[in-house]
Parts: sequence; C-alpha cells; structure tokens
Amino acid sequence: MKIDNYNFAGKKAIVRVDFNVPLDENGNVTDDTRIRGALPTLKKILADGGSLIIMSHMGKPKGKVNPKLSLGQIKDVVAQALGAPVEFAPDCANAADQAAALKPGQVLLLENLRFYPEEEGKPVGIDKADPAYEEAKKAMKVAQKDFAKKLASYADVYVNDAFGTAHRKHASTAVIADYFEPDNKMLGYLMEKEVQAVDNILSNIKRPFTAIMGGSKVSTKIGIIENLMDKVDNLILCGGMTYTFAKAMGGNIGTSICENDKLDLALDIMKKAKEKGVNLVLGTDCVAADAFSNDANTQICSAMDIPEGWEGMDAGPESRKAFADAILPAKTILWNGPAGVFEFEKFTDGSRAIADAIVIATKNGAFSLVGGGDSVACVNKFGLADEVSYVSTGGGALLEAIEGKILPGIAAVK
Ligand code: AMP
Repeated sequence: MKIDNYNFAGKKAIVRVDFNVPLDENGNVTDDTRIRGALPTLKKILADGGSLIIMSHMGKPKGKVNPKLSLGQIKDVVAQALGAPVEFAPDCANAADQAAALKPGQVLLLENLRFYPEEEGKPVGIDKADPAYEEAKKAMKVAQKDFAKKLASYADVYVNDAFGTAHRKHASTAVIADYFEPDNKMLGYLMEKEVQAVDNILSNIKRPFTAIMGGSKVSTKIGIIENLMDKVDNLILCGGMTYTFAKAMGGNIGTSICENDKLDLALDIMKKAKEKGVNLVLGTDCVAADAFSNDANTQICSAMDIPEGWEGMDAGPESRKAFADAILPAKTILWNGPAGVFEFEKFTDGSRAIADAIVIATKNGAFSLVGGGDSVACVNKFGLADEVSYVSTGGGALLEAIEGKILPGIAAVK
C-alpha cells in the first residue's frame, strides 16, 4: 500500500519513526532534524482524521530502562512540532488502554522501545560463548514475536518511516509487519524519499557518476566500495583511508591512521579500479599535524612522505583540486564520509572543497546524495544541506542499501 492512497480516517496508526535525537545534559533536544523529518507522515495521518501511536528507540539502553534515554523527555517537543497534544505511554508492553482511548487527531508516544530486549531480539546478560546462549536466543526470538504482536494489537495500520533502522530486523521495524494485512502496512513519506534517492544512485544513474568515500577506515566501507566499483566513473577515496593506501604503495605516513591488515585490500581496490576503468582519485598531499588536536602545528606535505611524528589530518590543496575536478562534471554524486578530521576547524578544508564542488555540480543539474552521519554533519556545519539534492537520514541503512542489500524494514511492508 502507498501512504498517499490510504485514508486514515477513523483508524489508529502505529508509526515507527526515528526519534533518536541528540539531547543535552538536561534532556533538551539539541537537534530536531529527525522529528521534523517524520512530520509529513504524522501530519497526513492526523489530517485524515486518524489517531497516532508513535514509537521509536533512543540511544543504546541495551534492553534496560535508562531514564536518561526516556522518550518522555521529548514529548513536548513532539507535541509542538505536531501542533497537537501528546500523551505518553511509559510502558510499551502495557499501553493497550491508552491506545484504545485514542480519538481521531489524538497522539500517543510510546517509551523507548529498546528498554525492552525483545525489540532487538538479542538475549541480554548472557555471553555468546555460554553453551546456553543458543537456547536463550531461540527463546528471545519467540519473545520478540510476542512483543511485536502486542505492539501491533494497538493499531489498525502500520507505517514504517524510520529509514535509519531499516537495516535492522527488530520487533518494531520488521517483525510487527507480519501482524498486518498487505493493505494495512506501508512506508511513510520519509522512507519513500529515501528509497527513491537510493534508486537514483543504483538504477537511475546519469553519467558521469562520482562517488566520494571518506571517513576513518577502509574496513567499514569495503562492501560499498566494491559495489560502487561496478557503477561509478570516478571514485574518490579520502579521509583516514588515504594513509592505508599510501602505506600500501610504500609511502611514509608518520603516525597517520592506518589499517595495517588492509594493505593488500588497498592494492586490490587499486587493481580492480584499473581493470574496470574506474578513475580512482586518492589524496596526493595532506595537511599534517604534530598532534591530534585543533591547536596542533600543521604543514602541507605529500601523503606519501609524512615526517616522523606527524599525521595526515586533512586533504591538501592539490588533492582538493583533484577531488573538485572529479566532482564538478558529474551528473550523479554520492558522498559518504569526511575528507579530514572536520570536527576540528583547522581540518575542514578538504570536506569543504568536496561540499562546495557538490553544490556547484548540483546547480548544474547533478543528482547529489549525501548520507552517513558524518558527511551529513559536514554539510550541516557548512550550511549547505539545502543545496544538495538529498541528505539521507540513514547511516548504516544507507550504506547497506547502496551495497545492494535488501533492508528488512522495507522488505517487511512490501
Ligand atoms: P566514519 O565514521 O568511518 O565515516 O568516519 C568519520 C570520522 O573519520 C570522522 O570523525 C573524522 O574525524 C574521521 N577522519 C577523517 N579523516 C581522518 C584522518 N585523516 N585521520 C583520522 N580520522 C579521520
């Protein structure tokens, strides 16, 4: 079912959203992007004359109640965003009466789902090496189904609008869908947009296609790098990965971040790029620092020849130009992971050069998708989020989708 075609009048809708928002030490929401992201879906349900049961996780309470991660803290922010009063259900597993009492236009927010081990479906308090673990795991899977069934019993219709957790087979993201007929389960608007954006990158490619992969490690990005190798024209690998490649090619990298067990993998990636005719762009120079700090002394040097005691913290001017040259003519662009330690002001230039080039290419008609927590933080920091085509809310989910994996949260409602 498509959300646009569904009339929620008189229905109770249980909606999985991603309200895993950052809070300050007093429990105030410091960034409400994720709440705003879910509004089109939530408002459509209320405007149709439906009632809402909103559920989400927050943080990693690992199956235990943790007041610091209670969704009760964000009740008023959600009410304000929706323009409707919100009631809070402190016990997800015992909210039947509150759900039953909901009238059209009314909203119930459930407590953090991950206070319940059944949500993730992993046994807690037992080690994987314990002989009883397998039994505990089986029992937990049964408990997970019961928990999902309980949640489902509160509503007539299920909507999944939490792309950030779509790669997880949790009670609220996937298992719950088994308890609704095909006509009564669907993706929300945010999910639909995410799916469309991934489709633009995977099957609707306009060329040239430039992907920029940054961040700290090759190992966490290898799946996506291998998948992209068959699709892209230009592949920019930057950030901390640069130094694993530089070392693999025989460079001196000082104290730069490096995965010594991935040197062969780096050479293999270079070989594959050559075989497939992909233009692999690696940083050739860098901004090196004598400490991992914003107050460090810096110098520009070759990424292959970093002095002892210094580490590569950002892309140098020559690399930035090479990155921009590969981005500016592109018609499809994917960016995941910063080009340097952008959290420190001194080392933002590489990521900024990438963001600026993406903005220009987008103005020239490219479809640009920025995703994965840190690159999103980058475009937000630079105030450029509105100048790229799409900023994904998914980190791991986006990477898995682009790797070509089927996401359980999407498969469950289709
Ligand atoms: P990831 O989570 O793998 O996307 O990595 C993001 C992190 O990579 C950010 O926190 C950056 O500070 C870090 N990063 C980027 N470039 C470097 C570098 N040259 N050295 C160390 N960390 C880096």
